[in-house]
Amino acid sequence: MVALRGSGPLRLGGSLDVSVAGAESNVAIGLARLGHRVRWAGAVGDDEAGELVLRTLRAEGVDVTGSSRDSSAPTGLLLFEPRLPQVTRVHYYRSGSAGSRVDSAAVTAAFTDGAGAPPRLLHLTGITPALGPAPLAAARQALELAREHGVQVCLDVNFRSRLWNEADAAAVLRDWMPYVDVLIASDDELPLCLSVSRDGASAAGKDPAEMHADQLLSQGVREVVVKLGAAGATAYTAEGSVHRPARSVEAVDPVGAGDAFVAGYVSALLDGAGVTGRLERAVTTGAFAVASHGDWEGAPTRSELALLGAESGTVVR
Ligand code: ADP
Repeated sequence: MVALRGSGPLRLGGSLDVSVAGAESNVAIGLARLGHRVRWAGAVGDDEAGELVLRTLRAEGVDVTGSSRDSSAPTGLLLFEPRLPQVTRVHYYRSGSAGSRVDSAAVTAAFTDGAGAPPRLLHLTGITPALGPAPLAAARQALELAREHGVQVCLDVNFRSRLWNEADAAAVLRDWMPYVDVLIASDDELPLCLSVSRDGASAAGKDPAEMHADQLLSQGVREVVVKLGAAGATAYTAEGSVHRPARSVEAVDPVGAGDAFVAGYVSALLDGAGVTGRLERAVTTGAFAVASHGDWEGAPTRSELALLGAESGTVVR
């Protein structure tokens, strides 16, 4: 989508900054900045807004050869309205957009590179299936291709209550779980993924997130990674759980933290790091996002990762 960012109450007018936003493109850019080869499957309108999306992704080193231009639907749009220092409202103009009509052909085109090689990892979000029947089928096609080619799957639940209700989301997400290797979610999103919702956390002496993660692991998910905002994140695997606190930064813009976190986690996973190393990079890239304006603009390159530990007032010459 194209993102227009205001500086105060939208109803007063004024100027808007033009940029690009979207969970998957944020993750794609985050990974590309860290030096990984990334391909983005999506659809934009055959319009200037779509050119901006594709140009931005290309400029960031993301392969967009599998993307499509839809001549009968516009590029999706969202407006960011910083309403209070701690409250940003996001207004979506996505219904009927090209992205909400993305279909299986885009997935098939993007899945293999020119040489026919499949990716090492497929990343999906729970936003895509909420956009409509065609994106739902496209995401499903991606999962089937991943299974066919032995590609590991990472899913960020990203439940959006304005797009669908919990019952509809749960029906899709539960169906997807057998395909998912790495599940990333907020603690309140975990029940949406459980095939049977069971209570009794306190009886078992476990907190709800731990109990839900255990159930997901027993259903076959390899890693359950729970994002906890300013409290950091916890990863659950068959070996147990690992927690990492958030990195201490001055938070100027919380939008995009989750996507940046995913990029860091997946990057370290692709590098072969263990769970602790994955979480460490994830909380680092998440902190870069909250410390920077914009969804992806502040995403670090590999050599910039170490900047976060610098003392206040550091000047790098
Ligand atoms: P989402 O954006 O998907 O809601 P979170 O808010 O949980 O996700 O943020 C994702 C990650 O970003 C957190 O796990 C944490 O590592 C980092 N993060 C979020 N907020 C802060 C903060 N105020 N300070 C430092 N890191 C943060």
